[in-house]
Amino acid sequence: MPKPRSSNHKAVNSFKWGEAVIYADNAATTRISDTAFEKMLPFLREQYGNASSPYSLGAKAKRAIEQAREQIAMAIGAETGEITFTSGGSEANSWLLQGISKLFSGESIHIITSSIEHHSVLNACHSLEAVGIEVTYLHVNTSGQVECEALKAAVRPNTKLVSIMLANNEIGTIQPIAEIGTYLRSKGILFHTDAVQAVGHIPLDVNELYVDFLSASAHKFNGAKGTGFLYKRASIKLPSLVFGGEQEHGERAGTENVAGIVAMGFALEENIAEMPETNERLSALVQSTIEGLQKAIPGIQINGDGVERLAGMVNITFPHASGEAMMLLLDLKGICVSTSSACNSGKDEPSHVLLALGLSEKQAKSSIRISYGKYNTPDEVEKIIIAITDAYTKIIANH
Ligand SMILES: *Cc1c(COP(=O)(O)O)cnc(C)c1O
Repeated sequence: MPKPRSSNHKAVNSFKWGEAVIYADNAATTRISDTAFEKMLPFLREQYGNASSPYSLGAKAKRAIEQAREQIAMAIGAETGEITFTSGGSEANSWLLQGISKLFSGESIHIITSSIEHHSVLNACHSLEAVGIEVTYLHVNTSGQVECEALKAAVRPNTKLVSIMLANNEIGTIQPIAEIGTYLRSKGILFHTDAVQAVGHIPLDVNELYVDFLSASAHKFNGAKGTGFLYKRASIKLPSLVFGGEQEHGERAGTENVAGIVAMGFALEENIAEMPETNERLSALVQSTIEGLQKAIPGIQINGDGVERLAGMVNITFPHASGEAMMLLLDLKGICVSTSSACNSGKDEPSHVLLALGLSEKQAKSSIRISYGKYNTPDEVEKIIIAITDAYTKIIANH
């Protein structure tokens, strides 16, 4: 039974996370960090002013938003004026793609993306195709990388935008964004990267990546759900997706999620400070997961790239065992993993990312993704290996 809430918010520190649940699905979402949580609370209760209000309660909210903008700009090597807050990664991606189509309305334009993007990018591209915009979906190689040569070959005279994700949310493969960006900048083609899985997890700088746009989402880096941002290079203005007031330089209407924005700034700052140490630990957790499972279950296959990958993520195909069944058996033991991206689980469709790597439908459906975050421990990894081995044995026995 949860203890009754104390009116003193410090009491939240006594909440013990993870006693019942082992959470290994950090690519779907993350637990908010204690720092970010503490920092957001005053903006829900004491300083709940609307940032557009002229009196001092409003001004305090406005100042807090601008401080977060500075933290975030600093974290990715941008100017503060280049950061626009959104409700998350999906909105940032949708806004960018809809915005580009409006920017070039009346022209016959071509867009390039990859076949392994998040559905917020893929479905936005499908909506553009429906209004006559041409879209090329680049194939990836067997480790999940877009090849720069394939991209160059796909460029046409009317190519106006390329959108390639920085790190994939199902296999963790990191794309050669700087290489692609250098080429595109020389051609004068706009370049967007969906960096939702990368921001707060790997070092990055928008200038070193040569990107013009970058999307991110707070709940993927230990901030709160419902907040994200789009980085836009200073000289580029996009028509707003949301109609309303003049918030966010008139580019994104709607009352700001002040508490969420504040939490996002601190969550990102904290993750970046901890990053070298976190990633070293995550690599070790993934390494022992792979070694433990390889010992217990012969024939497992690790999907994605061995080197260019996120430290905490591993996607595994098991011989002749349904990933869905494994996920459900693990859930009974309080262990959270996933079969594909959270947005599509429950649809019983094989992952479009695994199919793009060349896996068969059956192999794709026999896969699970484990994604560790900064709160996971070696002890949890031991429990996960045992639970997966048990689940696998049970499924194979019933085959
Ligand atoms: C989670 C995710 C998104 C969507 O972000 P939301 O804030 O949940 O809308 C977009 N792209 C990638 C790669 C993601 O992992």
